[in-house]
Amino acid sequence: MAVERTFSILKPDATARNITGAINAIIEKAGLRIVAQKRIRMSRAQAEKFYEIHKARPFYGELVDFMTSGPVVVQVLEGENAVAKYRDVMGATDPAKAADGTIRKVHAKSVGENSVHGSDSSDNAKIEIAQFFTDKDIVG
Ligand code: ADP
Ligand code: MG
Repeated sequence: MAVERTFSILKPDATARNITGAINAIIEKAGLRIVAQKRIRMSRAQAEKFYEIHKARPFYGELVDFMTSGPVVVQVLEGENAVAKYRDVMGATDPAKAADGTIRKVHAKSVGENSVHGSDSSDNAKIEIAQFFTDKDIVG
């Protein structure tokens, strides 16, 4: 597997608790390099578009409300097998089911307020990165 990029979000429950540095430490310790990063407030339109795939799910409204409830940190992570590696580092969606040492096991509050997003495929990573960054923003 060659070096690839994935898209990450440190969610509002993480910025609210001032644990973005603690999460970044886990990311970097896993060998993933933060090659772009900015703190933003997601607009409703941005959040709705970003999670469009979940539109029919019962938690969609709650998810959009949550993602727009406070600042987030959007990131591009780079490394060997970065997409799958970051999914491993994040842990399961529900922190109660996440493996020891994963970001969600250590930090997440609930299945909804679960501290981080990571792309689920290389194709989606490209689509998601393009929603928040231009090529010039990414310094590898
Ligand atoms: P993941 O973020 O692990 O890829 P999903 O793509 O299934 O998980 O869901 C996207 C996000 O929607 C989750 O990270 C979480 O914030 C929220 N979510 C998922 N399932 C639920 C649920 N049952 N109740 C509330 N929010 C949920
Ligand atoms: Mg997902």
